[in-house]
Amino acid sequence: MGLGTPLTIDESNLSRRFGLFSKMLVDVDLSSKLFETIMVEREGHALSINVQYEKLPPFCAQCKIMGHSIQTCKKILIDDSIAV
Ligand SMILES: [Zn+2]
Repeated sequence: MGLGTPLTIDESNLSRRFGLFSKMLVDVDLSSKLFETIMVEREGHALSINVQYEKLPPFCAQCKIMGHSIQTCKKILIDDSIAV
């Protein structure tokens, strides 16, 4: 399983001007587990690569939508106030 569907790859990756990291735009399913590392196989070797997410939008695992985090979810806050 990968990170998601690659949409674009940064030009510096294709020209190999920088070799320490790779930057790309990936369509990610935020309702699934986000990986912190991925395994990349190349020429008979497997490498563990660290993943950093840039501009990750807030996602509520309770409502299954983007726009707010679970820490600020009004649905949970309302449910908690009713339970008291
Ligand atoms: Zn929510």
